[in-house]
Amino acid sequence: IVNFSAGPATLPLAVLEQVQAELLDWRGSGMSVMEMSHRDKEFMSIAQDAEKDLREIAGIPANYKVLFLQGGATGQFTFLPMNLLRGKTGFDYVLTGDWGKKAAKEAGKYGKVNIAASSEADKFTRIPDVKTWKLDPNAAYVHITPNETIHGVEFHQEPETNGVPLVADMSSNILSRPIDISKYGLIYAGAQKNIGPSGITIVIVREDLIGQAVPSTPGIFDYKQMADNESMLNTPPCFSWYVSGLVFKWIKENGGLAGIGERNARKAAALYDYIDSQDFYRNPVAKADRSRMNIPFTLANAELDADFLKGAKAAGLSGLKGHRSVGGMRASIYNAMTQEGVNALIEYMKEFARTKG
Ligand code: PLP
Repeated sequence: IVNFSAGPATLPLAVLEQVQAELLDWRGSGMSVMEMSHRDKEFMSIAQDAEKDLREIAGIPANYKVLFLQGGATGQFTFLPMNLLRGKTGFDYVLTGDWGKKAAKEAGKYGKVNIAASSEADKFTRIPDVKTWKLDPNAAYVHITPNETIHGVEFHQEPETNGVPLVADMSSNILSRPIDISKYGLIYAGAQKNIGPSGITIVIVREDLIGQAVPSTPGIFDYKQMADNESMLNTPPCFSWYVSGLVFKWIKENGGLAGIGERNARKAAALYDYIDSQDFYRNPVAKADRSRMNIPFTLANAELDADFLKGAKAAGLSGLKGHRSVGGMRASIYNAMTQEGVNALIEYMKEFARTKG
């Protein structure tokens, strides 16, 4: 099966095979990682290696903490405002899709939310021109969603925020290409697309931004307390942490983020080139803002959608149904998707268009 699901998504086959080989007995320990105490030296080494490898592949500067948390990206966009308000009165949010909208709604419970820019009137098919953003110089942070998973819209460079910390929900494009972490105050991402199994959420945060959470913040959601306890204030999601560590090693062995980024660019270009070359399928997103991770497309005749999906399934191509809010199709082609997988989809699309078009 070639899995185009938006998440949880396909994992690298080499990683799955290693998990299988180590499942019952992790490296001669006589135990599965699932059974280990998170305080034992075996798991401590797994956790520390994962952080070390992540720091290395993403080039995370020493003045940033890396946290391995629970609660998913939804948890993080909920805990974020209480952690980063820092005595300010509000936050800037730039809306380029549904996830940013949901995040802004949560922030509204802790302060005034200024929607600095939004492309909702254009059905989230583009990034609003940075020159038109109405940023508040006193905002606690500016929140963006670098890749909107549902709409297939991606930032291809970081916006300038005039010294106000930039906060990013990178759930669906983290580790998909080289990244300059120093441009961000905080990055968060649920694991289940480019990192590992669901259940773990990564937060990369500049040290000076933590330690000033609003007093009512529960300890378990306080980034400072989690940082001080190496993300083990309570039992962490050990198994997801372990698999994430294997994925970081896989990235290292596959050319690092530069190599991964080139592969991702080639995969996305192949699919967009085909879509743009004919009239049967269409992608609605402004070309400069198209995502390399999630590629939504519609069929000229929506009555053929069910047929398309049925045939795709029979051809071993799964997870192509578009999000219920936008309809049509969506091919999610994260890091673990191979060029062969994308080619198989293009061949199927061509054949479907030839017989039904
Ligand atoms: N943010 C983005 C960009 C996402 O794609 C998703 C899930 O698909 C979420 C947030 C929600 O993630 P979670 O289910 O981990 O809360």
